[in-house]
Amino acid sequence: MSDRWSQAAALQDWMADHQRTLHQQPEVGLELPDTHAYVADVLRGLGLEPEVHPRAGVTVAIPPAAPTDEPTVVLRADMDALPVVERSGVEHPSQRDGAMHACGHDLHMAMLLGAARALVEHPPARPVVLVFQPGEETDRGAVPTLESHAALTGLADEAAEAFAIHVHATWPAHSVHLRPGTFMAYGDWFRVDYRGPGAHASQPHLAGNPVVAAAELVTHLRDAVAELAADEHLVATVTESLIGNTVNVIPTDGRVRGTLRTLSADKRDALLETLDRLATSTAADVGVEADVTVTEGYPAVVNDAAYVERVRAAIGDRADVRDMADPSMVIEDFAYFLHRFGGAMVYLGAQVGGRTGFNHAADAVFDPAVLATGAALHLLAADGLPPATT
Ligand SMILES: [Zn+2]
Ligand SMILES: [Zn+2]
Repeated sequence: MSDRWSQAAALQDWMADHQRTLHQQPEVGLELPDTHAYVADVLRGLGLEPEVHPRAGVTVAIPPAAPTDEPTVVLRADMDALPVVERSGVEHPSQRDGAMHACGHDLHMAMLLGAARALVEHPPARPVVLVFQPGEETDRGAVPTLESHAALTGLADEAAEAFAIHVHATWPAHSVHLRPGTFMAYGDWFRVDYRGPGAHASQPHLAGNPVVAAAELVTHLRDAVAELAADEHLVATVTESLIGNTVNVIPTDGRVRGTLRTLSADKRDALLETLDRLATSTAADVGVEADVTVTEGYPAVVNDAAYVERVRAAIGDRADVRDMADPSMVIEDFAYFLHRFGGAMVYLGAQVGGRTGFNHAADAVFDPAVLATGAALHLLAADGLPPATT
């Protein structure tokens, strides 16, 4: 079998063509009809028979070169874009108003399509299931994807391993970043609804003011987070405040919303308890009521340590491998794949020049030259990765 790195490199231009086309037609959320059709068509063009579920992605199984009892390899790419107006300056920008592949999922699809082509031409050592999944950003698309496809529901949990790559806009192109254990954070969203009696603005002594309650919460939450984060990083960010609508009325109601990110179940519990306590007490102090609602986001992405070492051994000195000192505070619903099958996610640096716009920014750009590196990693995983050398 020829070398997986050279097979991937030979497909660089083919992958870059697909990435450009996908970049120009971004779709947001779970409903990605054009993206589903595009990916399925490319796979059919390779002689494969993909399984397609609207709102749950595209999968295709590729049999191994020879029968084997080794676990199946599940390789996953996500497909959705973000509701962002592109200001990246790339040569082939989004052709759709208000949507942009700002998280690099167009690269994820292109590199997995490249892996598909190489695996058709040079079959893998393991049975492989390629997964193209919608709705990663906020729609928990991994869940309907895992539940809908016969190629996945037919797999026993212990009979498969999952692998995925996420491109990183501000780490050096082609660098591969590994971390055993917690790789990305738990994420939750919160909302605090305020209710007060309301009053004439000239009589603040007569009525509690939701604006004051929210301001107190923001300040106290910031202090409490600094204390809770003394030994383990965590985040509580208030991102929205909608209270009041004029200059001379104390409003009766309003709300704030925000994001919580934690790295362990213990800290998550502590932060949720702190938020609830502070929202209630700061509101009571100023005479209004507060109602806290927490929407569970994604669980943490937790990499299997032994799998990470096998990835390291498989790469050897063929790429610039780096260890992440800390988990990323980003969240990712690949967590659900790892929860079921085990395996790992890695970051692939894709920085262009000295650009500093991180994933999700309107000016984020990703170097398409990393497609070959990403495809090679998928191919190494498809062959089962060697045992760890350390
Ligand atoms: Zn994203
Ligand atoms: Zn992403």
